[in-house]
Amino acid sequence: MPLLVMKFGGTSVADLDRIANAAEKVKREVERGYDVIVIVSAMSGKTNELVGWVEGTSPLYDAREYDAVVASGENVTAGLMALRLQEMGVSARSWQGWQVPIHTTSAHGSARFMSIPRDNIDAKFAEGFRVAVVAGFQGISAEGRITTLGRGGSDTTAVAFAAAFGAERCDIYTDVDGVYTTDPRISSKARKLDRIAFEEMLELASLGAKVLQTRSVELAMRYNVRLRVLSSFEDTDETSGTLVCGEDEIMESKVVSGVAYSRDEAKITLFTIEDRPGVAQAIFGPLSEAGVNVDMIVQNISEKDYDDDHPGAVTDMTFSCPINQVARAQKALEEAMAAGKIKYDDLIIDTDVAKVSVVGIGMRSQVGVAARSFAALAAEGINIKVISTSEIKISVLIDRKYMELAVQALHDAFELEKSA
Ligand code: ASP
Ligand code: MG
Repeated sequence: MPLLVMKFGGTSVADLDRIANAAEKVKREVERGYDVIVIVSAMSGKTNELVGWVEGTSPLYDAREYDAVVASGENVTAGLMALRLQEMGVSARSWQGWQVPIHTTSAHGSARFMSIPRDNIDAKFAEGFRVAVVAGFQGISAEGRITTLGRGGSDTTAVAFAAAFGAERCDIYTDVDGVYTTDPRISSKARKLDRIAFEEMLELASLGAKVLQTRSVELAMRYNVRLRVLSSFEDTDETSGTLVCGEDEIMESKVVSGVAYSRDEAKITLFTIEDRPGVAQAIFGPLSEAGVNVDMIVQNISEKDYDDDHPGAVTDMTFSCPINQVARAQKALEEAMAAGKIKYDDLIIDTDVAKVSVVGIGMRSQVGVAARSFAALAAEGINIKVISTSEIKISVLIDRKYMELAVQALHDAFELEKSA
């Protein structure tokens, strides 16, 4: 029988009525002839509550026990969903991660999948069960302990099951009706996309669009799992929502597909560092060891680039990182300075910045996207502090107070309110 994976996020299973509503959607697919693997999140707010309980008990908690507590939210929903389906006459069975068993690494709190053997669930389908309800976000380590995947991890569970079971599609039911050209709260002109390519979604997800966990999109791209994002609060059919798929399934796309933003950025500049081989390594080595996620990097040219007679030339280095890692970054750099590994005159930290990015696979074949973006920002008098680009993305760092204006200006400049 063809198989679908349906994933319901926390707001879609927030109470018994919503679980019943989600179960109706599952039942409909069963009636259409699908076997279904349902992946459930914890009821909304539950995971936060559980994390709070752990922290309230033990501030420097044992990560194994954190996972034991925090994984329990999904177990409750899985059992309730199976019960609700049974009440509706659908043969369903729930599965916790260890029962499948979902093998993961032992990195508690941020575990990764190792393997998902199909045998147990396949055997239940063979017995005539039509639905397997699996608790998202969790697995079991080689040591036999419960693990969790990191916040938002149920999306990744869903994609991993779709890949392991060769599902026709992986439907992600959530509280929005799809992926938008930008955040509708920021631009009223934001438009829902019918389709978006994996690579674009990956950029948008990692750039701050919160619809899908980034790792789930990575996994979907690697295993070519067609993903659909759609609302559990609306009547939906095969054409609802946004399909995240391979480029070959996208007929026409605009040069830019979406505008993403991230508020939680900081910019750090090291003034007058030496311009010689090994300096970048001496700066970014310690940052990486300290676990700082460096994003954009800009190094200015020095006099040496004009004139080779400047052996002692100096330059400046600027980089961005998440705002909550600034303290760690500063400590790592100051320690490297104290140890004589790097030398700078000044360390300047700017925590009032935001990153705004335009993303689109169309950029590969069209020139002028950067110029058009910069013109749109200039017209609003927005100063660009740092720029970085990739094949399908242009990102700028700007003052945070202009973030919404920048998103709107870029959305307008590329006429994203109109479809291709
Ligand atoms: N319940 C977990 C969380 O809130 C996992 C998920 O819902 O994806 O992060
Ligand atoms: Mg989520």
